[in-house]
Amino acid sequence: MPGCDLYPFFLPVFSAAGNTLASTYCQWYFSPMNKKEPTTMIPRPERGILRHAPWQYGKSGQNTALNLYGPRTGPVDILLIAAMHGDECETTVVLSEALRRVPPGKIRNPVILSTNPDGALQGTRSNARGVDLNRNWPTANWSSDPVYHKDHGGTVQDILLSPGEAPASEAETRALQECVENLQPRTVISLHAPLACVEDPRATPLASWIASRVGLPLIPDVGYATPGSFGTWSAEQDINIITWELPSEPLANMIDSHTPTLFKLITGDYQSEVS
Ligand SMILES: [Zn+2]
Repeated sequence: MPGCDLYPFFLPVFSAAGNTLASTYCQWYFSPMNKKEPTTMIPRPERGILRHAPWQYGKSGQNTALNLYGPRTGPVDILLIAAMHGDECETTVVLSEALRRVPPGKIRNPVILSTNPDGALQGTRSNARGVDLNRNWPTANWSSDPVYHKDHGGTVQDILLSPGEAPASEAETRALQECVENLQPRTVISLHAPLACVEDPRATPLASWIASRVGLPLIPDVGYATPGSFGTWSAEQDINIITWELPSEPLANMIDSHTPTLFKLITGDYQSEVS
């Protein structure tokens, strides 16, 4: 298939279906760019699996692969990450839905679907060692004090977690820190749940664009102290940090309302719309 850089996974499928189908799909995925639709989405029947080769940027505390999709070196405009809290798996699903719509070779901004896979496997906010990874970053205000949070049904922050033995004590934190330093993103978008807001201390046009598209309020901060957070560390590195808190809604609703915007962010199809 000259001129077609489809991921090799496709080849047996298309070869089995014959050259005519392969040629048709090549045109579908790589149709000429135009102003209305710079990047064609993968058609619905093909969205069941990830069509992108992962790159392993590190390993978790329990030797689970930490994977990134897209560019491995910077500088990049945006890095999109999800599930630093392992009990916020809806962030992984919504971001994965967007990534699975992106044709191979069309990821402009890199994606990490889970920065805390051990926590996701255990269903815990923390990693496997009981550390809240969003309090483990080497910031000026890192604190050894325990971290309290509320569970998904609670109103009181009374669940105890550790910020780690020291700043960046956790394998997941160190791997992501090195990854961010290599990528040199201008902005990191970190997906969380379920506070239903877009947080950006700098109120950047990009955050405003996201908030207006997905119908969430844009706020400067979440209203409580977060020592050692990834957001604080990013700000100290002069990286724009946008925390995108999904609402507490059925997953199907969030896929409808949030995935199209994430698709645009992954493919780079937003710059003309962000003033
Ligand atoms: Zn969270």
